Order: sequence, then C-alpha cells, then structure tokens
Amino acid sequence: MIAPETIALVRERTDILAVVQEAVPSLKRRGRSFVGLCPFHKEKTPSFHVNPDRGFFHCFGCKEAGSAIDFLIKHEGYTFREAVRALAERAGIEVIETRQDAAFTESDRQKKAREDLYAVNALAATFFEDQLRRHEHRGYALEELAKRGLEVGVDPKIDEVLQAFRIGYAPPGWDGLASFLRQQGVSPAAAETVGLLVPRSSGSGFYDRFRHRLMFAVMDPQGRVVAFSGRALRDLPEGQAVSKNDSASGPPPKYINSPESPVYTKGQMLFGIHQARHEIRQAEVAVLVEGNFDVVSLHARGVANVVAPLGTAFTGEQAKLLKRFAPTVVFLFDGDAAGKKAVRLSRDAIRAAGMNARVATLPDGVDPDELSRTKGPAAISDLVAGARGMPEALVEMELDGTFVQADVFERVERVERIRKVISDEDDPIVRMELFAWADQAVSARLDLHGMRVGRDDVHQSGPFAALQKSLRKDEEAARARGEVPRTAVTPKEARIAAKPPGSAERREIVGCLIEWPSLLEDPEVAEELSLLDGPVVMAIASLRRAWKPHEKRLDVDAFLEEIPPAVRMLANRHLANPQQESEANAKGYLLDNANKLKRLLLSQEAAQINRETYRAQGDWDAERELAREQSDRLRAKHGLKS
Ligand SMILES: [Zn+2]
Repeated sequence: MIAPETIALVRERTDILAVVQEAVPSLKRRGRSFVGLCPFHKEKTPSFHVNPDRGFFHCFGCKEAGSAIDFLIKHEGYTFREAVRALAERAGIEVIETRQDAAFTESDRQKKAREDLYAVNALAATFFEDQLRRHEHRGYALEELAKRGLEVGVDPKIDEVLQAFRIGYAPPGWDGLASFLRQQGVSPAAAETVGLLVPRSSGSGFYDRFRHRLMFAVMDPQGRVVAFSGRALRDLPEGQAVSKNDSASGPPPKYINSPESPVYTKGQMLFGIHQARHEIRQAEVAVLVEGNFDVVSLHARGVANVVAPLGTAFTGEQAKLLKRFAPTVVFLFDGDAAGKKAVRLSRDAIRAAGMNARVATLPDGVDPDELSRTKGPAAISDLVAGARGMPEALVEMELDGTFVQADVFERVERVERIRKVISDEDDPIVRMELFAWADQAVSARLDLHGMRVGRDDVHQSGPFAALQKSLRKDEEAARARGEVPRTAVTPKEARIAAKPPGSAERREIVGCLIEWPSLLEDPEVAEELSLLDGPVVMAIASLRRAWKPHEKRLDVDAFLEEIPPAVRMLANRHLANPQQESEANAKGYLLDNANKLKRLLLSQEAAQINRETYRAQGDWDAERELAREQSDRLRAKHGLKS
C-alpha cells in the first residue's frame, strides 16, 4: 500500500495542467480554467476543461472527469498505484509504503527485479529493430511484411506504424541476441527469465530462442515491452538451418511467443493495446482480430482501435483490460470453424467482465487485413458497425449452412447450445426477445430444408416450444424469488428526473459555493442556505467537511467521495470550469439567486400548484422517457434492432 500521506502529497503537488497538456496540447486559457479538445471522445469544438486551482478536469461532452491521477488511469491505462507512482516521480516525491519492513523490502526487491526485466526486453526490441535495418538476411522479413502490404520505406504512414509496434528481425545465428546482451552487460539469467535466451542442454551457455523470425514486441498499456511474438519466415538457403534438429521436428511453428515471466502472463495482455488505447477510447469500441499482423496492417491503414489476443482464446483478464478503455468489443474473426470456436469460447469471459460484445463476420477466406487493402478501411468500419449482438451471432453460428448436414446427435447438441446461449442471458426480457428471434430463425430454416419437424408442429407450437417452456419456468422461478426485470422503472425513480421549480436557483447557489467555498464562512450567505433542500443540502454538508479554512484549500477528492450522485455532475462542472471570477462576484450571484428562490417560495400557493402540475407532467413524461431510454439501451447492448 502507498501511504495516504504520499497520495495526499502527490495530489497537492501535481500540476494537473502539465500532466493533461502532454495529451491535450490544444488547451487554451479561458477564464479560470483551460479548454481544449477532449482526448476521450471525438469532437470539433472544445468542451474539455481543466482547472489547475482545483486539480480537476471535466468534459462537458462525454462527462469524463477527475483528478490528475484519474487522468492517467483513464487516459494512459495506469492502475491507481502506477498513476500515483508516476506523478510522485514527476513531482520529486518519495513514495512511502505502509507495509511492514520485511514485506516492503520484498516488494521493493520484486519491483526492482521487474524493472530490470523490462529493461532487458527493451534492449532486445532495439536489437531486433536494428537487425531489420542492417542484417544480411533482413530481406526475408521485409518480404513477409511486403506480402501484407507493409513495404518499408515507401509510405511514411506505414514506416511510422512499424516503428510504433517496434517490428524487428531476429537473425538466424544461435547467439546474435545472446552476444549483444552480453556486450550490454545484461546477465543471461535475466534474459532467460523473460524467455529470450534458452540454456544449452549440453555444456554451459545460452542460445537465442527467436531465430530467423519477424519479431513483434508485445507491450503493456504503458508501452513497456513485456514479451515477444516471432513469426516464422521463408526458409534460408541450405546449410543455414535455424531449428535444432530440422529433420525430426518438421516445419517450425508459425508463431513462437515468449513464455510466461514475472512481467508477462499469458491471457492477460493484448497485442496492440498500447498503440490502440487512445483510438479505442475515442471510438468507444475495441475491435478484436485474430492475428498480430491484422493488428499492424489495420493500424497502417488507419483503423487503429484494433488489438489481438496473442494466441489464446479471449480471456476474462483481457476483457477486463479492454474494459478500462471501452465498454464494447467487436470480434472480427474468420468465419471458419476455428474463428467460430474462438468466439464461442470467449462468451463467459465477456459476461464475467460485464462487457458488451458484438460479432462481425468476415467473408469466407478473407482476413481483415486483406479486406482493408482491397476494399479500403471503410469496409472494416462497415463490418464493425453492422456487427450483431453476441447471443444473436452465436445462434446464427449454430444454424449456419452446416446445420442440415450435421447428424442428429450434433443437431441436438447445437440446439442445446442455442438454448444455453439464450437461457444464460440474465435479463428475462432480453431472453424473450432472443427466443422470439431464434424461434423464427429456426423455424424458417427447418421449414426451408424440410427437416423432420412436422409442419403442423411448427405452426402450432414452434420448434422451440420446449425451449420457450423452460424459459418461462426460469422466469417464473426468478419472480418467485422476488427478482424483478431490470427495465422496470418505479414511479419514485421517475420523479427524481422531474425538476421541481427553484432547482435551477438552488443549483446556482451550490455552484457558487463549490467555486468559492470560503463563502461558507460568510454570515450573509449562511443565512440564505436555510432556503435549500434536497440533494444540494448534502452537497453543501460535504463541501463544509472538505473545506480546510486555515489552508484555504478544498479537498476535492473528499468532497466528491461524499456527495450524492444527483449533484455530482454539477460539482464536476463547477470544479473544472468555474464561472465566477472573484469571491465578490460569486457572493453577489449567490445572493441574487437566493432572492429569486425566496420570491418563488413566498408565493407559496402558486408555487405549490406549480410544483404539482410540473410534477404531474414530469412524472408521466419522465417515466415514459426513462423507460424507453432504458429499453433502447438494453436492445443496443444485446444488438437487437428495435
Ligand atoms: Zn469528452
């Protein structure tokens, strides 16, 4: 654990403007805050505000908000710990750990050891890049790149992407990297730990794991090289074998990946996450492709929100990693059996991470990279935009053209899988929707192919009658347990959405106080605060607790932690983009609003009628609107068309 004092010091000493400016160079001063183009969503007019006085940012477009620590977490994909450490380093603050001495020393030692491993990987990446520039056999690697439309030295955009991905060449000799690392003073043991070197089985010494391969550096979100992925290349001329015993082992595997190490765990990293992270955030969707090459070549063609799972089925850890950047992932996999299986296997991971998943199917035998090359990047965006919800896609997969050719056992199995896909959905309404859709799809197909389902059966009850029955049973059981559909909007929730009269004035008053908390100590202001009610009162109470009068400082985090959700957005806005230039202005404006509010309340009767009318209207409209919105969201989430 990092000591709370360290965290507090980091918050106090960090210049949020300097941190954000590196990512948002367009920031310009406007009033007390700075405004620029939001790095979290695509926009043409700036709505991203940073207030250095409060150490706070807020986007009026996409509503992202927070401190400098939050910025690093959201924008750079750091963990909280990493963000605090990075900012501490920047501000020259020593990081104090609260752990026991022994545990601390141990964790410190491990951290140091990990840093050494990152350094070894970084050196190796540099070596491979250099070999791609000068080695006599580099032509083999360049040829493989060219096959994917990635010619070196032709298009600056392509060169730039190859550099960003640190593409390199591992030479065929047995000790190219080994001797380079030796010259650099790297211990072979460290290089062995990250899997770059392998100890010789006879005698002493080490040899290179990756030989005569095109090298892809695998980076974590922060851009540290954690592993490598090496692709086999066309054979070298006779006598320059790269495998250990060529005759026995057959052709070398197409890809070799680094083994696991203290800095790399299989199934936790995604190829391209560092290079794709900003685009993924802006697009609010990540595209998952099967191969490293697909990632690099799509980036080169301007489709940059793309990552690949590094040779594993998509795991829950990978889903969690992606979710840090976007709520939705679109699978862009081959339509072949392997591609389908990979999508099917990923479902639990997706569900566990609470991600939205959609599936885009490529035309038979075409990979994404080929499609973007022949039809342009728009062909990829079209596919992604037209992707279906995962359950729908999974049902389709089971019912594709091979269904009629399958024997009865397999058909039974497939229908069972469909049933499972649907019954796994948590929401009973979505289950019903999916059922109706699957029922229709199935009956159309069975009808069409004259399967052994009697026409009468189909028309009377549908081929999925049994399925429907079991679903109804599931739903009844859920209701019996007291569960209610998530779409239900209770009248109480709807009422909150309707704004009672005077709420604008109340919010302006709270806004002034958030901008100038010192006004809390002003007796004239204090008297007016008795006019307030509702969530704003709680906001003011939190403000009072977070205001440090002696230091004239607001503890922004403590304040935000406590306030009710209903006023959080209001608080974000005023923290990031204050409107009142001075305390005196703020006081004047606050008192004006208090007067307006008083007049409103004085005409009690009118106000009462007003409020009731408004509420009555608001209730009904808000209720309907909320219900519709919620159902749209739900449909969108599951890829159902309305
Ligand atoms: Zn934004």
